[in-house]
Amino acid sequence: MPDTTPMLLAVQGTSQVHLIIGSNSLAAARCIKSLESGAQPVIVAPETADIHFSLKDRCEQGAVQWIKRDFQDDDLKTLGREEVDHVVDMVFVTLGGEHTLSTHVSQICKRLRIPVNVTDAPDLCSFTLLSTYSDGPLHIGITTSGRGCKLASRLRREIASSLPANLGKSIDRLGTIRRRLWEEDNVSDQQASKLEVEDEDLATQSHTFNKLITSEDAQTAKTRRMRWLAQICEYWPLQRLASISDSDIDSILTAYSRERTNDSVALANGAFQHLRKGKIVLAGSGPGHPGMLTRATFHAITRADIILADKLVPAAVLDLIPRRTEVHIARKFPGNADQAQEEFLQMGLKALREGKYVLRLKQGDPYLYGRGAEEYSFFRDEGYIPIVLPGITSALSAPLFADIPATHRGVSDQVLVCTGTGRKGAAPEPPTYVATQTVVFLMALHRLAGLVESLTMKTSSEAGSNRTLWPKCTPCAVVERASCPDQRIIRTTLEHVCQAVECEGSRPPGLLVVGASCHVIHTPEGQKWVVEDGFRGLDELGVEGDLLTDEVKVTEATNNI
Ligand code: SAH
Repeated sequence: MPDTTPMLLAVQGTSQVHLIIGSNSLAAARCIKSLESGAQPVIVAPETADIHFSLKDRCEQGAVQWIKRDFQDDDLKTLGREEVDHVVDMVFVTLGGEHTLSTHVSQICKRLRIPVNVTDAPDLCSFTLLSTYSDGPLHIGITTSGRGCKLASRLRREIASSLPANLGKSIDRLGTIRRRLWEEDNVSDQQASKLEVEDEDLATQSHTFNKLITSEDAQTAKTRRMRWLAQICEYWPLQRLASISDSDIDSILTAYSRERTNDSVALANGAFQHLRKGKIVLAGSGPGHPGMLTRATFHAITRADIILADKLVPAAVLDLIPRRTEVHIARKFPGNADQAQEEFLQMGLKALREGKYVLRLKQGDPYLYGRGAEEYSFFRDEGYIPIVLPGITSALSAPLFADIPATHRGVSDQVLVCTGTGRKGAAPEPPTYVATQTVVFLMALHRLAGLVESLTMKTSSEAGSNRTLWPKCTPCAVVERASCPDQRIIRTTLEHVCQAVECEGSRPPGLLVVGASCHVIHTPEGQKWVVEDGFRGLDELGVEGDLLTDEVKVTEATNNI
């Protein structure tokens, strides 16, 4: 069979006559399909034939007509309904492809343009049946083009089980909205032709008619209405659509009539907003690679109405945000961090008040140098308690991706995470030397020289203090853009790290790891420093591809508005 694409149709069988040749279980199944479509099935089989019990019942009840004799060619042109000159509307031959009658009937049907289906003989068919799933007005049909009926029915089951319950009922309800809007607009059309509404009628009319309506207005309203309904069907999560209730419909209709003149997109999103309370999630996006996102954060990314992302959130993560979602990236640059933060908080608050699902997306983990708790308090004080989702912090994952074990038996038994930049840019107090400690400095590379100096030398003001200094030969590593395709590692010691970074340049964001653990797996022999470029990464595991497939799967999956 050539690789053509069949045209899938939904046949409206009401009052049609379907001729079924044979009386076995398949004939019974065809009868049921015909009856379900509203058609009248007629069976042609000799009186002596074995007749499937369910068919027998239906024949006795009069639902199916049984012509008790062998098939005759004339049956095709005489058993049909009068309005189509007694030609039958469809033929099912259930005798199998090997039966001589099958080829014969198929040929005549094709000549007479009567759709014909012969069991197990695709070449003799002008149409095949789909494996179907029905829920009220919703019907889903699957075909594998005759290559695997078992697989088709498995796929049907899988698809059906992935759909929310009550979808059929909701489709009915959405149909109601559509009809009511249509009716309302038709009334508007009549009003439009009159151009003006008589005042005395207003008491019984919706207030939307209480104005001059021109035919141009009516046309614009119609276009808007189409877009509005399309937006609801397109963007509401399926789960939410499936649980749409009668009162929801009333709210939608009221919101629609009340705000007809507003933009339809805003309406589609806003129709429910007075019914729901805004929700805020504060989440960490991990160090960079989208595979480092937690499932919970990924879930939030695909469902949020609005995402407020930090500048450091990597592009590969931003790429996972559905196109419909509003995204803002913090406009933080040196000197305006506080202002940008405030702008973001206000933006989040406004969206929450509009009933939106806000995702505040941060880099790494939200509570590790992410001002996460400040934001928590801000939103809580405004009446919105954030749900906080952890992220994989760069502080622990960057050393890992650089083959540096944060702890290692006999080498390092503690980890210290600190910042190289204090409040308002001041230098924080340097940690004292502990031989068995791995120290990770975030936000430190831009003042690396000052930091290294403070670790390895005392300032004149602390001449008398007993702070232990870090030996210059202490192993260290600069890890930049960890888990991103352009990850870079510089392995060296405190003595050479500044010179190394000066020579190699910087590739932010990056951090400094200090401690003996830096040389556990790799030790640069006889070189001041060693540079390793690129991320061997997760791609060979196929993680990224899976994420994209997941995204497609979930865009229509469960969600609570
Ligand atoms: N909340 C974040 C840290 C924010 S502070 C977390 O948990 O990871 C920003 C600092 O994190 C940067 O200056 C840098 O030192 C470090 N950083 C963030 N992402 C990084 C990455 N992919 N590789 C190396 N360092 C990174």
